Order: sequence, then structure tokens, then C-alpha cells
Amino acid sequence: MKLKPKLANVQTWEDDPGEPPIGRTPIQRPAPEVSHPSLPVAVAGEPPAESGDYPGSAEFRYWAAADAMSRASEFWGPLMPPGTTWDRDVGGVLTAYLDSGDDLNAYYDGRGVRFFRHTVAGVTVHSGESPDVVCHEVGHAVLDALRPQFWGVLSAEVGAFHESFGDMSAILTSLGVGAVGDEVLIETQGNPARSSRLSRLAEQLGWAIRQIDPSAVDPDCLRNAANNFFYRDPVTLRPNEPASQLSSEVHSFSRVFTGAFLDALAGVFGEQPARDGNALIEAGQIVGRLLVAALLATPMVPSMYAQVAAHMLAADKALYDGTYGMALRSAFVRHGILSPAGAVAADQAAPRHLEAITGVAPGAGARLATVTVPAERYGLTESFSASAPSQPPRFSVTGADPAMGELAPADPELAAETFIEDLFRQGRVAVADEFLTPSAVLVDSARTRTHRVARQDSGGLVMDRLLFT
Ligand SMILES: [Zn+2]
Repeated sequence: MKLKPKLANVQTWEDDPGEPPIGRTPIQRPAPEVSHPSLPVAVAGEPPAESGDYPGSAEFRYWAAADAMSRASEFWGPLMPPGTTWDRDVGGVLTAYLDSGDDLNAYYDGRGVRFFRHTVAGVTVHSGESPDVVCHEVGHAVLDALRPQFWGVLSAEVGAFHESFGDMSAILTSLGVGAVGDEVLIETQGNPARSSRLSRLAEQLGWAIRQIDPSAVDPDCLRNAANNFFYRDPVTLRPNEPASQLSSEVHSFSRVFTGAFLDALAGVFGEQPARDGNALIEAGQIVGRLLVAALLATPMVPSMYAQVAAHMLAADKALYDGTYGMALRSAFVRHGILSPAGAVAADQAAPRHLEAITGVAPGAGARLATVTVPAERYGLTESFSASAPSQPPRFSVTGADPAMGELAPADPELAAETFIEDLFRQGRVAVADEFLTPSAVLVDSARTRTHRVARQDSGGLVMDRLLFT
């Protein structure tokens, strides 16, 4: 579909509608350009002829989503390696489907990005109206385009990193919109690491979920990147906790990396000659570039956070001559993603040439180990196989031990099996009836299934991913 608006301007939100009753005022933006040369996007349906001047109308929602899709593409497209295209079954254009049913949810399913509506306390919340939510989902598609291998790896930390990337996408893509940069600096008194509209992600969706399940989300939004969460091996965490605690559930655990990322963004901002809104936009470009360079080269390992962090330090040395090393090390050490000694070692081990960390990661061709999960563990008719994060790490770093030093390297097969156990306990696995015995355990069938156990072409059963929420 070609989206050629005749409108000059549309109305949209800067980052989110905010909590009801809505006190925010939409801003005017040029009608979005969606046919970007790299990573083109679209919204399903005919573009409305009206700009939709007031929130609550279908026209407003259409243009708010189209503008958010466009800004995510505009941010990430130029940072991607030339020739990067959408992956999986997306086709040439990533399409947003704004009314996919009644739910408080949104997801990327490898074909497009889907948004839902649900009425809570008399307020109908459309997840696709929030640029935070839209840019989170497009973030999943962007990381899938950059590194498709993340999709099928069974690991809480690898899955949580994907969630963190979605939230980082929401943060980075809102920096250049309207006066967000300046407003954030006023709200945080010049320190964007503090809680602000930038760090508070998806306030409206968070409000709606809070009306139903008060402990499931932060008190002021869905997830707040301004947090103090300290790294733990997810294997040692419980699968569910209130939002005030860290659990191994991917969205909960994602907050450790996103917290460090916000600190890193603030640290890079602090290194800019000016301390204004434009400097914050520039800092966003720098950390976005470092993130993409790092992710091109990061192998699939259980300690994914530490590995990405070490690659970002290496990317900084190669791209910026180490200018932001102190800011990055400080952010990662503060959240336990690297131990102090690990950060020093990663810095000393970092090659100075970008070629050494971009392109094909060492061991990227290495096949992922397969774990076999016995049929009786979940009451299935056959055992099934799954992929473990078993590539050789480039940097020998792991997360910090909360006491001192760093944790022992995690076992890839244990990481996969504990994640699979979590998915069953959280009701996230779809299994066709033909593979279930009468003793099977499938918890809470109302939940969105993110994974499935299905017959693979070669005959046996395999667990693979259906979608990222
Ligand atoms: Zn997500």
C-alpha cells in the first residue's frame, strides 16, 4: 500500500497520551512520510482524508500511529548496515494493524505489528495510539532485521534483551519529537537519567493494566527506565514478581538493561559541549549507533547483557576513540551488567578497529546447541527440542556478582531449560491437542502465547517463537 497523504500536517502525541484524564495536548507534525528507502512502514487501511484534530477519533489514531511508525523508521533506518531489509515474513513494508481485537496488548509476530483496544473504567485504550508502544513493537522488528537469530533462541536474558531493545527504541525515537528533549531537561533539572516522560514508558497502557492488576506495572507507567535494578542471573530469579521486584519474566528482567541504557544516554549527554535539547538528540544518535554496531557482532550467549555491554565499549573505541567509555562503564557497572573488573578487562580487550567487531561475529556461524526436553516434564506425547544460547562469547565477561566480582559463566543448556520452564509456568506455550497427554500442564489458556511446540519438517517436535509482545 502506498500512503500518499494530501494533508500537510497531522495531530499526534509526542510519546504517549498519558494517564486518563488526559491532560496532554497533541502536537502538530508534518504528515508522515512512510516510504523510507530503508525499513519502509505502513498502516493498514485507507489513509483518512482528515487529519483527525481531536484524540478519540479513528483519524487521529491512524495518523498518530503512522507518525510513530515513520519516526521509528527514520531513527533506525540510517543506523542500519546498507541493504538491511525487514526479516521473516514481513515482506518489503512493515505494516501496523491498529484494531486487532479486544486486549491490553501489542505484538510483533514476524509478519507485522499488531495493536489492540480495551475499555477500562469507562476509558477505551488503544495501544496503537501510543508512540511509546508503537516504537517498542517496531523495535522488535528492527532488531529482528538486524539479528534474526535472536528470534528462536530459548533464553530469558536473550528474550529480555529484545524487550529492552523495544523500550530503548521508544526512548530514542521520542527524543527528536516536538519539544520532548527540552521538556525532559526541565523535568529532570538537566539530568536525563532521572525519572521523566522520557523514562516513563507507555503511561496510558500502564494505567489501564494497573486498574485490573495494580502490582503488575510501575506506579506511574508500564515500565520506568529510571530504575535501580541490579543484575542477577535470571536462572536464580522467580518467574513472577510484583513490578517492584525483578523476576525472570522477560519484560521485568528487561528493565536492568534499559536502566543501564538510560544512564549511558545521560552520561553521553553529559559529554556533549552544550547541555540542551539538541545535545540530548545527539546523545541519542550516538548511543543508537553504538547499540547497532554492538548488536551486529554479539554472539548468542547466556550472559547476553554483559556481552552486548562489552561490544558497546568496543564500538565506542572504534567509532569515537573511547570518548564515551567512562559513561558506558559507569552505567553498566551501576546496574551490575558488568563487574568493575569485568568493565576494566572488557575495555583493555577491546580492539581499536571497527572491522574487528562488525561483520560476522566469531562463532556466529557456530550452530546453536539443541536441548531435548523430555515428554514427561510437561505431559506431552513426545519430547521436543529447542535452541540454547551456546555460541562462544567474544569477550569473557558475565554479569556482576551482587557481593563482589563477577558471576561464573552460565550454562547455555540450563539457560534454555529454565526459560522453557518459565514459559510453561506463565502459560505462554501453545501446544496442539494431538501432542498433549491427559496429564499435560498448560497454565492459564487466556494468556497470549509467545511460543509453541510444533512438528518440524524433519519429524520431531520443536519449540519455536510465535511473537514478541
Ligand atoms: Zn515487547
